[in-house]
Amino acid sequence: MKEVFEFRVAEDVARARIPPDAGRSTGLVRTLSVSRTDPLFETIGQIDEEMRHGGRAFFTSWSVKRTYTKQEFESADLLLISPQRVFEPAGEECGTSYDERNSECNCGGKAVQTGDLFLEKSSLPSADFSKTIAGEVVVSKRVVDLSEEEGLTGAVFGAVQYAGHGNDPSASHWQLVDATRVDLDSATEVGESPFDKAPHDKRGCGVVGINLLSQVVVRQPADGQADWFRTAQKIGARRGLLRPRPLLLISQKAYRSFCRSKLNGLTIEPAVTI
Ligand SMILES: [Zn+2]
Repeated sequence: MKEVFEFRVAEDVARARIPPDAGRSTGLVRTLSVSRTDPLFETIGQIDEEMRHGGRAFFTSWSVKRTYTKQEFESADLLLISPQRVFEPAGEECGTSYDERNSECNCGGKAVQTGDLFLEKSSLPSADFSKTIAGEVVVSKRVVDLSEEEGLTGAVFGAVQYAGHGNDPSASHWQLVDATRVDLDSATEVGESPFDKAPHDKRGCGVVGINLLSQVVVRQPADGQADWFRTAQKIGARRGLLRPRPLLLISQKAYRSFCRSKLNGLTIEPAVTI
């Protein structure tokens, strides 16, 4: 696995703190691409911490890219999946209801969707996997059919209702409502940024942090025969329509059948199972 972090720093801030030849500059923004073992990674962390104490930030944004070998894909017991295609309006804007009465924490981690997912018919993407801006996962009929034909177990698919069409469920799309539980191991790094890993102040809400910062590490699931999984823990924060959501994983068997059938719309990453 190769992991590269990218930090974007305003050029005037970069010039004051790091060598002129570090990273690439567009004149206004300096982009620093570094692995964790690069000494510059630690330097960025130190400067960031120092500046955060003064209420400022060193980098304005960051992202991470992990690339894996074919062998890593083919030998992983479980693989993390995330829909690439994001669309709106979200379920809540189309009449989907959520119950948050059980929450002591206001992060939205304990919110429960009550009833079917309502969406705008014209907004549904043709991709096999997609999600709303609020993180509701939608799959095509091909996915549901393939899951049944291949005997993939663990997923609960729910009807997608078209907003304003009465009780008229979609024949082309389903919601991936639930899946067999798997526990996220604490070796998985989560936090605001690679240098700000303050854990979420959890009051039984099951939220471990805002962003995923490393490859996913999960415990061997109790039901090792299942093919569709979701973590018992959630990641994310309440921001507008967004709520923390569990991570989704699939078995090697499911991965192979997805590849054979050329299902589209997913980012797939091998997970570590311990
Ligand atoms: Zn919470």
